[in-house]
Amino acid sequence: MGLKTKAEYIESLRKLKPTVYMFGEKVDNVVDNPRIRAGIETTAETYELAQMPEHRDLMVTKSSLNGEPINRFNNPPQSVEDLVARVKINRLLGRRVGTCFQRCTGLDCMVALSVTTYDCDKKYGTEYHKRFVEFLKHMQTNDLVANAGVTDVKGDRNLGPTEQADPDVYLHVVEKREDGIVVRGAKCHQTGSLSAHEIIVLPTRALKKGDEEFAVAFAVPTDTKGIIHVVGRSSLDTREQDGCDCGNVQYSKYAPTVIFDNVFVPWERVFLCGEWEFAADLVAYFSAFHRQSHGGCKAGKIDCMVGAALTMMAYNGTEKVSHHKEKVIDMIHRAETLYGCSLAASYEGRRMPSGTYFIDPVLANASKIHEGREMAEATRLMIDVAGGFVADLPSDRDFANPAVGPLLKKYLKGASAVPVENRIKMFRLVEKMAMESADTISDIHGGGSPAAHRLTIFRESRNQDKVAAAKRLAGIEE
Ligand code: SF4
Repeated sequence: MGLKTKAEYIESLRKLKPTVYMFGEKVDNVVDNPRIRAGIETTAETYELAQMPEHRDLMVTKSSLNGEPINRFNNPPQSVEDLVARVKINRLLGRRVGTCFQRCTGLDCMVALSVTTYDCDKKYGTEYHKRFVEFLKHMQTNDLVANAGVTDVKGDRNLGPTEQADPDVYLHVVEKREDGIVVRGAKCHQTGSLSAHEIIVLPTRALKKGDEEFAVAFAVPTDTKGIIHVVGRSSLDTREQDGCDCGNVQYSKYAPTVIFDNVFVPWERVFLCGEWEFAADLVAYFSAFHRQSHGGCKAGKIDCMVGAALTMMAYNGTEKVSHHKEKVIDMIHRAETLYGCSLAASYEGRRMPSGTYFIDPVLANASKIHEGREMAEATRLMIDVAGGFVADLPSDRDFANPAVGPLLKKYLKGASAVPVENRIKMFRLVEKMAMESADTISDIHGGGSPAAHRLTIFRESRNQDKVAAAKRLAGIEE
């Protein structure tokens, strides 16, 4: 099959028939729904860039399975160079779409599975790795997108999976058959689930003995019987639905809640079933790798925010205002710190027993903690530089209305050489980048909550070496 073009990718989604609800109604034509399509367009750029000669070397690599050219989004890294390429691709794409492009989480799952299925087979003689490799070949050969069914809805956070009043709040196996398993549950924050061909499901947390039914990993097509996608609200979502005041004229992000209502999974697609000790590894590998990923895409988004701030300075006539320049510098150094930390996590990567390369988790989590705080600061600085109309710019429909449009344009005029229409468009983009909840909240909670990032840093930091260093300096011998 080989690499798909952007058009072929979009056509391939048309062949799927997922069950979808949005705004209280069933959506039959997913691809042409303007809200969902704006998200599909972002993922489509991962195909578009792979076809562009200037980006092909970065976007395309050789399959370690058969030597064929594949999109790097289906390549569990085979070297430090692959780890680094991932961060660079994400920055490139983040800058191109100014929001989430939704193809990273599938790769994060594939990385976690490529490491953990191998380790599980070594311990128990299972055949999960062989099944996973067959699935990976399917993904690579057909140039498909997967999304990550990781985050369970979790019910009462005080209680473990077996203690919940309703066991379905953690996705679990409800039946084992000769030909496969049946699962029930729901996964939330499913970024781009309708831009994907496959959903890869992993456990959401570390598990213990007795939790076997929740220790399950598998992959199924997104339109499998029993799977229901309910597209979540985002703060500016009706703009796309209306086709008005979108800000980012092509791209957006959506994230459904995906319900698994007694879904059958054939054994050849099951990658973990009952081996609870490996749930923690799957979660740790998935989340650390996703946090490295954010360092690229969010640096790319800050690039767009810096571009918007500089443009607004030119349009407002504040180019020479020194404190605005200082604010832009503060935005740039935040992007570069984030990016540098993710690159460092990649350069410090190491080979795992399965052959997959994995990043340094401490540096990846440091990058994510930095993002959680500093994206908000970069956003604040962009709004500060742009000005108050980010809050309440009149609609394009008012600008187009002959009764008030000319008056609005007269009073919205900024620097004399700049068409007022451009100033209006840039205000709208700033609003979109600052206020779109589906994307901005992922700065904080994407890849797990900030507390999880901090705990991982503490757990993985080899603090005993630091204690030994301090004791040696103090002359303490034990
Ligand atoms: Fe990828 Fe996550 Fe960034 Fe979206 S937010 S582009 S899925 S790393």
